Amino acid sequence: MSHTDKTAVVTGGGSTRGIGRATAHALAADGWNIAVLDLDEASAKDAAHEIAERAGVEAVGVACDVTDEASVQAALTVVDGALPPVGALVNNAGITSPVPFVEVSGQDWDRVFAVNVRGAYNVTRALVPGMVERGFGRVVFLSSVSAERGGGVFGGVAYSAAKAAQLGFARALAREVGPHGITVNSVAPGLIDTDITAGKLTGEREAAVLAGVPVGHKGRTRDVADLITYLCREETSYVTGATYDVNGGSHIH
Ligand code: NAD
Repeated sequence: MSHTDKTAVVTGGGSTRGIGRATAHALAADGWNIAVLDLDEASAKDAAHEIAERAGVEAVGVACDVTDEASVQAALTVVDGALPPVGALVNNAGITSPVPFVEVSGQDWDRVFAVNVRGAYNVTRALVPGMVERGFGRVVFLSSVSAERGGGVFGGVAYSAAKAAQLGFARALAREVGPHGITVNSVAPGLIDTDITAGKLTGEREAAVLAGVPVGHKGRTRDVADLITYLCREETSYVTGATYDVNGGSHIH
């Protein structure tokens, strides 16, 4: 079984400077065919085009709102018709929110959980049965250092709670599907240079966060993408239920 005859699905892989797109590129360079699912259809298609051109693999970009089961089903039907069976899923689509707890509304809270937790559930629930049937699968969650150290980077309580929910999700799923040749792991990045903070982490605020990073700078998307690619390899069959830190030393435990 080789992953050159399989597809890796990356949710939220549209964002030009995002972790998802970098991961899709790294997986493609490793031989995976790629499906990019993103809320932003144009960016998903652009990513797929760039990936196919650069890596010479098959790639499709599909519009998908991971919070909506029907949208996920529709997108996966397109993937199913266009690419080889799915062997890996990277639950990367995510949103953050810096709103302080005493100001957060139920709506803000639900929105953060809808994308990070329910979204990951919708896609994982749809893809894992096929992996079980084929006896092979790799699932990776994009959690965050915020889940481990109690915020303190950019995201508030809702974000930390949602990212911690992903860790429990991944660990319990790892236990359940391990016997079927499926591994499930999480990566917990610290401050990575992307557009997720929408320009709201600058100046003194950014300097304060960086003061707590021993290596003294933000991480690159590539740092995270390479680790995910390792976790998705078929050879990486004995690593499961684990959480990998990529945080420049900002949280050491
Ligand atoms: P980003 O904002 O650059 O990209 C996120 C992508 O997700 C975008 O393309 C967006 O369109 C897509 N998306 C958002 N909502 C969606 C939905 N409902 N359905 C489908 N797609 C949706 O973010 P990033 O910095 O690349 O972050 C990627 C992941 O890594 C997120 O889960 C984030 O929480 C996590 N993370 C990021 C950092 C960081 O410092 N950048 C740190 C820790 C964890």
